[in-house]
Amino acid sequence: MFSELHPAADPAVLDAADGLAAFRSEFAHDTEGLIYLDGNSLGRPPTTVLEAVKRVVDEEWTQRLIRGWDEWIETPARAGDALAAAVLGARPGEVLVCDSTSVNLYKLAAAALDAAGPDRRVLVTDDDNFPTDRYILAGLAQRGGGELRLVGTDIDDGVDVEAVTAALGEDTALLCLSHVSYRSGAIADMAEITRRAHAVGALVLWDLCHSAGSVPVDLEACGVDLAVGCTYKYLNAGPGAPAFLYVREELQRRLRQPLWGWFSQADQFAMGPDYSPRPDIGRFAVGTPPVVGVAAVEAAVAVTARAGVTALRDKSLRLGAYAQTLHDEWLKPLGFRLASPAEPHRRGGHLTLWHEDAWRIAQAMRDRGVIPDFREPDRIRLGFAPLYNGYADIHEGLSRMAEIVRTGGYEKYPSRRGAVT
Ligand SMILES: *Cc1c(COP(=O)(O)O)cnc(C)c1O
Repeated sequence: MFSELHPAADPAVLDAADGLAAFRSEFAHDTEGLIYLDGNSLGRPPTTVLEAVKRVVDEEWTQRLIRGWDEWIETPARAGDALAAAVLGARPGEVLVCDSTSVNLYKLAAAALDAAGPDRRVLVTDDDNFPTDRYILAGLAQRGGGELRLVGTDIDDGVDVEAVTAALGEDTALLCLSHVSYRSGAIADMAEITRRAHAVGALVLWDLCHSAGSVPVDLEACGVDLAVGCTYKYLNAGPGAPAFLYVREELQRRLRQPLWGWFSQADQFAMGPDYSPRPDIGRFAVGTPPVVGVAAVEAAVAVTARAGVTALRDKSLRLGAYAQTLHDEWLKPLGFRLASPAEPHRRGGHLTLWHEDAWRIAQAMRDRGVIPDFREPDRIRLGFAPLYNGYADIHEGLSRMAEIVRTGGYEKYPSRRGAVT
């Protein structure tokens, strides 16, 4: 299968045949020569996003002042519709760009728990889900008279459908999982797991942080109820750019989120005495949207939409398979092993490698101009962003990585971790 995914080993030949190669020049590359393999944590800036931010600040805010709101008020839903169509497989009116992933997860999980009734108080997630997801659900269970049930997960292989099914029952209000594991990159079977949850009458909330802009998602075809995700990873909308939330249309009037802010009020500017939420996706908003960030999301989604998620996934599979081959040839003999599913089709956009000195190697890589990301325990995550990473990046990045280990170039680095990794 690898030979099918990358027919020649020469990275220059592979880059020359890459149908998405032209997108690389649409990104700002200030740091000449830097090999950036961390787009799964923070994407590089598309120049159109930088221009959109500048336009909002210099033209819209500076010149239009308060009058800008005539247009700004529409942008969270408009950006949501663009995401729905290009990235999420959702219908118009089902996605809103707002708040952070953590806050959106809280709002939607709380709405699901509140709607579930007294006999369904269990929230199910997996013990290797992203920390904020587990913490938010634990806090919600404690406040909301619920119980959090954790499914045991192999940290390198991802959630197992049967194990998830065994944790579901008539007592379950909500199942919440990540579609692509932040640690291993393992893809969960969204369609089948959603079916299993529905079979016991539970709602399902998918976290799409590592899927959006990387892996095809079809929320409508999978019958997904709720979803959240961020826009600063593969979607490249920038640090702190607002997240998105999705609520299936048929559920919108049934669910009420817990933060009764004025942006979710039916007649917002009547400034009336009582709260009555809007009938549409707007009822999941809270307060004033971050206009500059929403503009960045719109511009960023436009880049992904032009490339097309199918083409992005195709290239991402090839990049991952190529990196895997180089790992087998160069890195495995140096003490690395895969900490991701071995089959490229079972992974999202990143490949995770275990090494007992992973933390020190990651520090040495940064000093040698290769930016990976490190994740406990002892794992280096290599993110391949198909919009701007090419085969030459992977070849050079992994070659420097191998040299660092072969020559002991990492040994002078501290083995204790800092605060941000
Ligand atoms: C990155 C990520 C988040 C981030 O949440 P924030 O609220 O943006 O900090 C949440 N969940 C998953 C699975 C992630 O990968």
